Amino acid sequence: RAKSAGGNRYELADPEADARAITRHGLTTALPAALDRGEFFIEYQPLVHLGDDSVRGAEALVRWLHPQHGVLGPDRFIPLAEHTGLIVPLGRWVLEQSVRQARDWQERHGDQAGPFRINVNLSPCQLTHPGLVADTVDILERAGLEPASLCLEVTESALIGADDDLLKPLRRLAEMGVDIALDDFGTGYSNLANLRRLPVSILKLDRSFTQSMQQFPADPVDLKIVEGIVSLAHSLDLKVTVEGVETGAQAEQLKLLGCDTAQGWYYARPGPPDRLHELALVDATG
Ligand code: C2E
Ligand code: MG
Ligand code: MG
Ligand code: MG
Repeated sequence: RAKSAGGNRYELADPEADARAITRHGLTTALPAALDRGEFFIEYQPLVHLGDDSVRGAEALVRWLHPQHGVLGPDRFIPLAEHTGLIVPLGRWVLEQSVRQARDWQERHGDQAGPFRINVNLSPCQLTHPGLVADTVDILERAGLEPASLCLEVTESALIGADDDLLKPLRRLAEMGVDIALDDFGTGYSNLANLRRLPVSILKLDRSFTQSMQQFPADPVDLKIVEGIVSLAHSLDLKVTVEGVETGAQAEQLKLLGCDTAQGWYYARPGPPDRLHELALVDATG
């Protein structure tokens, strides 16, 4: 290989990197047609109320059924969609599907424990798109879903250092009753005092915190940190959701620490809408 020879020779291309680049390029060019052809679909993962273990909602997670590569997760194509701008129509499609699905669940399932809620991820590009508020209002109205049944998840890193122009659409949505969640919280090194400035009502604690609770006994410093975040969040009137709960021990620990809502494989993996309907029904009947 040229690399080991040193000196001024050029490097041979790494064939794997080449394949990755081709795939990336191929995926990028295939994205717009994929939306037209209906190759995207949404899986839903239950959000569980830790007070009584009831399913109170779900997060919508998009997937791409690629004709050659099979099912691709969002980490494979969301960055490409953001780069090309396709994220705006794709994000709108996800929002519309999920909102309609939530309304369908509410109608079929009733609302003994309060209306079924739907969480949808927003990319930073959607935040700066001028149509965000109008599109969201339109989608909610056409589906007949209350704004309070919708939660938009924005990552902490997208809001770090956000100026007022960026926050304005989120504020408008929050005033209408839409919940805004700070996703992957704890990974972005944001100033905690900054939280007061953001129109956020839910903190989604990053999976890395949940993971550190895997060992028994859990690391006492990690426990203190989560305890501190939960008490700060509650004192600011924010709810705390934890993601990535994979074991019963984690669930118990997070419950003791006062977290409000949990999500993870321990309860259910993301799945098709019917799967969630079954879970919710099982839950309601005992
Ligand atoms: P996220 O919003 O933080 O979503 C949680 C991710 O954790 C999902 O990965 C979910 O499948 C995974 N997960 C859930 N429970 C567990 C668990 O117990 N253990 C482990 N190891 N993982 C768990 P997924 O579906 O691959 O999504 C990855 C990211 O892609 C999401 O992270 C979100 O940032 C983004 N994403 C997904 N759908 C959309 C979308 O419609 N629009 C945008 N803009 N981003 C999306
Ligand atoms: Mg999310
Ligand atoms: Mg998350
Ligand atoms: Mg995450």
